[in-house]
Amino acid sequence: MSESSIFSRIYRGEIPSEIIAETENVFAIRDIAPKAPVHLLVIPKTDEYRNVVELAAGDPTLLTEMIGLANSLAAEYADGDFRLVFNTGEGAGQTVFHVHAHVLAGGLSEGNLR
Ligand code: 5GP
Repeated sequence: MSESSIFSRIYRGEIPSEIIAETENVFAIRDIAPKAPVHLLVIPKTDEYRNVVELAAGDPTLLTEMIGLANSLAAEYADGDFRLVFNTGEGAGQTVFHVHAHVLAGGLSEGNLR
């Protein structure tokens, strides 16, 4: 296990952020700096995978669970349509190395691409 990530600290309640949904192995929060009308983060409770490539290789079932929660949240918070973004690597804008999916919804434009 790596050093505790900011998302693990949020899940444990050490950093304030409302957990808006969770499944057995995944939870979701609102992004603190939203880039779309609905901008949520879907995050595995484990921080052992740094990015989606590691996750897909190590635990594809957990990746599927993330996508399922993203789909449910897009239906609950928007019209059901959504963009799923996994920034992978610093050069792609990844800043937190605990894999997470950005769920962008609720009126998207090219400006939401990041
Ligand atoms: P990345 O840049 O790694 O793909 O995405 C990290 C995301 O986490 C960013 O969009 C950033 O706004 C969000 N973020 C960073 N710190 C916090 C925090 O303390 N609370 C919440 N809710 N989001 C955060």
